[in-house]
Amino acid sequence: MNAHQFIELENQYGANNYHPLDVVLTRGEGVWVWDVDGKKYLDCLSAYSAVNQGHCHPRIANVVAEQARRLTLTSRAFRNDQLGLFYQKLVEISGMPKVLPMNSGAEAVETALKAIRKWAYTVKGVPEDQAEIIVCANNFHGRTITIISFSTEEQYRRGFGPLTPGFKIIPFGDVDALKAAITPNTAAFLVEPIQGEGGIIVPPAGYLEAAEKVCRENNVLFVLDEIQTGLGRTGKMFAHQYENVKPDGLIVGKALSGGFYPVSAFLATEELMGVFKPGDHGSTFGGNPLAAAIGRTALEVLVEEKLPERAAEMGEYFMEGLRKIKSPHVKEIRGKGLLIGVELKHEAGGARRFCEALAQEGILSKETHEHVIRFAPPLVIGKEEIDWALARIEKVLQMD
Ligand SMILES: *Cc1c(COP(=O)(O)O)cnc(C)c1O
Repeated sequence: MNAHQFIELENQYGANNYHPLDVVLTRGEGVWVWDVDGKKYLDCLSAYSAVNQGHCHPRIANVVAEQARRLTLTSRAFRNDQLGLFYQKLVEISGMPKVLPMNSGAEAVETALKAIRKWAYTVKGVPEDQAEIIVCANNFHGRTITIISFSTEEQYRRGFGPLTPGFKIIPFGDVDALKAAITPNTAAFLVEPIQGEGGIIVPPAGYLEAAEKVCRENNVLFVLDEIQTGLGRTGKMFAHQYENVKPDGLIVGKALSGGFYPVSAFLATEELMGVFKPGDHGSTFGGNPLAAAIGRTALEVLVEEKLPERAAEMGEYFMEGLRKIKSPHVKEIRGKGLLIGVELKHEAGGARRFCEALAQEGILSKETHEHVIRFAPPLVIGKEEIDWALARIEKVLQMD
């Protein structure tokens, strides 16, 4: 079968809920992927930061194969010999004492929301069904009905009502707005340290510290969604480590499996996680031995290969290179580590055509929020590969 036929097959039988670039990939290694015609691309999306460790990392691949032959799924009705070791590693790198494993990012966010609400009723003493959670405009936390209920993207919500109540939306990066939004029924403030899907929006320095302080003063939980910013992407293991904060809840996913399998987790303090009693919450696949073995190894790779440090160094190099490019289209270049956004002027006609041109040149990237091109390669990228990319990006950003 050729590329055209694979595309036709997908279009014939698949739901039309994505608008992918018509590149049909069949193999990946490190920062590179290959299409069915043998053309090689530098992956500058990393599956929205799920393959921070690089495609098909050999060490994780070996663990997948070994564990797949030994034991994959027991359900949480029984214990297994992988889960505790995974917890231990996650606690060690995050500094959060308790773990609840799930599969997709959205499920881990849902888990956080449930914990927050139950904490509000059983610990804070909010009257039943009155708990409020404060979130930010332009957020992205996933696609379930409850999560889209507090999205500010019209398309994410439209047609999917009735929506879940109990959320209050404030501007991102605005601590005074947070202060003003808090009521006696406020249970938590849920926020991304950098808004990824929102267009790589970096808040003012000190924002998380100030927000945490407001939360502490009002007995409000401070909960971070680091599904995209976490696990090395921004140049630290977690983006919140750029500031002196200690969240009550921390949500991780994506690179927690190095891209091999859906693995996510909600991490929390003893007090917050303590609200869950047997039967309160669960997942058939969450915490299965295959996921646990993959998750533990994916974390070991991040630490042993010093990928957060590498992201900091390579991110700086990449960003510097981008800033040197003279282009009539670029409005702003921003980001942290290897989470980089290039915002184009509106006159440039949208980022999509630039992403299509980049794919022609052998670079896979994705427009986010119409006018932003995101560059987020696997963290194993080196200077040579960045130079290779910069030459091509320069050419594309200089087209008419
Ligand atoms: C991707 C993402 C999610 C949702 O993760 P899924 O695995 O797609 O459900 C939630 N929050 C953030 C910040 C994300 O980037």
